Amino acid sequence: MSFSKPIIATRAEGLRRLEAFLPHASGTYRDYRNHLSHPEGLPTVSKLSPWLRHRLITEQEVIDAVVDEHGVRAAEKFIQEVLWRSYWKGFLEQRPSLWTDYRREEFAIPSKHTGIECLDDWQQELEAAGYLHNHVRMWFASIWQFTLGRSWQSGADLFLRHLIDGDPASNTLSWRWVGGRQTNGKIYLATPGNIAKHTNGQYKPAQLATDVKPPAPPELPVRIPLPSTPVWQVTPKTALLIHEEDLHPEGLFGHPHWASVVALQSTSWRSGLPVSDVVNQFVAEALKDAGSRNTPSDSNDAACYLASESGFNALLAHLHNAKITQLLTPWAPCGPTADALAALEPLLKEKGVQLIRVPREWDLQLWPHATHGFFRFFKAVRAQHPLFEPTLQNE
Ligand SMILES: Cc1cc2nc3c(=O)[nH]c(=O)nc-3n(C[C@H](O)[C@H](O)[C@H](O)COP(=O)(O)OP(=O)(O)OC[C@H]3O[C@@H](n4cnc5c(N)ncnc54)[C@H](O)[C@@H]3O)c2cc1C
Repeated sequence: MSFSKPIIATRAEGLRRLEAFLPHASGTYRDYRNHLSHPEGLPTVSKLSPWLRHRLITEQEVIDAVVDEHGVRAAEKFIQEVLWRSYWKGFLEQRPSLWTDYRREEFAIPSKHTGIECLDDWQQELEAAGYLHNHVRMWFASIWQFTLGRSWQSGADLFLRHLIDGDPASNTLSWRWVGGRQTNGKIYLATPGNIAKHTNGQYKPAQLATDVKPPAPPELPVRIPLPSTPVWQVTPKTALLIHEEDLHPEGLFGHPHWASVVALQSTSWRSGLPVSDVVNQFVAEALKDAGSRNTPSDSNDAACYLASESGFNALLAHLHNAKITQLLTPWAPCGPTADALAALEPLLKEKGVQLIRVPREWDLQLWPHATHGFFRFFKAVRAQHPLFEPTLQNE
């Protein structure tokens, strides 16, 4: 199940794909989202995640469009799935040590030959396409941990290096969820029957683990406070910093007169091992697209730097030459980009440049509810978020 080529990493393409998927976001999605294919060839899932993960299109835009088309009730399943992304982000943002502890570990590149046909095929597909269907991700993570006895961390690292949508929150916490480390006494165990049913009989692996006990109840770290909105103002010496966590900065800042616009690519901070070309290319192109929509007042292009020592030095030199004293950037949630920004910030300070991270209203409203399980989060969001109000009254 791969993407139709080429995979165009632009906001326009994300919006086009959203439009194309809209008719399928209610009944078809509700009934077939766990299947890899549809009897009449309709799409069973949206494959919007590469665009959503980088906020080329935002969760709010997607849910707005779906609610407009179908109303909340008819599209509730799809809306819920999109909200899982916001939930995991809010959950990790309040417990960043789940990311930093995992990220400190080192892994070897895993073998591609496990002797389990479906797993080997899916790994090949992951590496070639940079995408796997959600149900495949669940089976993969389950077989990896329970049948092969490998660590969730090594599997999460493999996914994060190869998935275009590789996301620190959704990936880390989903691997933990499958392994029983998010919910007391609950694991996700892949079974041959379930795999056969949803792959239309393509796979029915015989040798999967069956008798698996959940690990000891997870001890989750104490929550830390969430970000709040800083005071900010664009001055003649303010530059915009674009990064891959939010590639629609104009939705946050509008189009003020930026003295300069720079972009930072931090894909290499996903892992200690090399990140795939598919991922690097998508993100590089997406940063370029965001740069073309957010231009500085006196030139057309945003300069793009890699989050490396030489990239940082070139970025600092650019800011110095442009006499920049303030860098505004969308909030980067816990993960590779936030790590890269944390390394960059003291270097900026030394050069007299203040870095200001601005969170989105969406995150400020939703993240505080990501305290326990998803369904408690969903109930709170549905009850309180204005997005759901008008449609609920009409239904
Ligand atoms: C082990 C494992 C690892 C995962 N790693 C990632 C990851 O690195 N990055 C990532 O974006 N998602 C991850 N997911 C979640 C989910 O599999 C993908 O978001 C989804 O498959 C993307 O495909 P889609 O756009 O066709 O989804 P659709 O089914 O069409 O859903 C629409 C949108 O809802 C969101 N969504 C759907 N399901 C989930 C979910 N379970 N968790 C969070 N958001 C969801 C995505 O933004 C998705 O684009 C992982 C799931 C598992 C089980």
